[in-house]
Amino acid sequence: VSLRHKIKLRAFIASLFGITACSPVPETPSSAASCEVEFIVLGVGQDAGIPQIGNSDDPAWRNPAAARFASSAALVDHTTGKRYLFEATPDIRAQLKMLDDMAPSDVGPLGLSGIFLTHAHIGHYAGLMFVGHESASTRDLPVYAMPRMVNYLSSNGPWDQLVRYQNISLQGMVADQPVRLGEALTVTPMKVPHRDEYSETVGFRIETAESALLFLPDIDSWARWETEYDTSIETVARDTDYLFVDATFFDNNELPGRDMSKIPHPRVTETMERFTEAPDDIKSRIHFIHFNHTNPLRDSTSAQSRLVRQNGFNIAAEGQRLCLATRQD
Ligand SMILES: [Zn+2]
Ligand SMILES: [Zn+2]
Repeated sequence: VSLRHKIKLRAFIASLFGITACSPVPETPSSAASCEVEFIVLGVGQDAGIPQIGNSDDPAWRNPAAARFASSAALVDHTTGKRYLFEATPDIRAQLKMLDDMAPSDVGPLGLSGIFLTHAHIGHYAGLMFVGHESASTRDLPVYAMPRMVNYLSSNGPWDQLVRYQNISLQGMVADQPVRLGEALTVTPMKVPHRDEYSETVGFRIETAESALLFLPDIDSWARWETEYDTSIETVARDTDYLFVDATFFDNNELPGRDMSKIPHPRVTETMERFTEAPDDIKSRIHFIHFNHTNPLRDSTSAQSRLVRQNGFNIAAEGQRLCLATRQD
């Protein structure tokens, strides 16, 4: 039984007996006061964001509450004040503002102690342009990337200028080797199959003493992850408390007039099917993220969103906070 489950059980027992004071029961999700390490969702859209360029009829142009940023998240270590960003998206300006409002910090350039990048597709790294000379002009902001991604950034403009001007300091990662961010806080890159023109693609496993989380916004196929990398999403789900996984498309009816069988990304319907036989506890660990502008999960009140929740799965939301390690004092 993990600590998270003990806490849930304690909260449940406390609620049965109306206990509020005799033993402090941490809230779930934890407030910053009782939480040591926190994961905050800063964006749930696909690379191009919602609404997308050229889609003037999208209701999100008139209703900003329906707009979605490109997928991104922050990891906050409240004991040290260190904050890490996962992805540098084209929406990074608003996303960092959101993070500053939710969990402010003055540790490191822009209050950041590092940015972890999954791969070289626009929604995942192009926001780096805002740390350069024309904008924040940071000094030695650590950017964690895989070898091909490091090579790509250091040998192509405009990114190589960030390296030459020392706005960023590239930190090479090795697949399956944990990057240690604290005594009991690690981030481990896991390679996944994807359209790898300029870089390899990874997902990240974030681990504390209490829990583990997978951040995997882009993957071409669950089957290819098994055959090519010997990793199955079902196995990962068994020892991971939270899985934020690629939900680019809901199903194959999403792009009318296009044969979607040639378009990669596991459909949400396929991912749910894989877990049909799984217990509710496992299903509830899955959080869908990275919605294309055509995906009905972009709207939490759509019939498809209701279906996903009825089936026991979760839909990631901007501003969502998860406590990965509670304060022990
Ligand atoms: Zn993407
Ligand atoms: Zn991609």
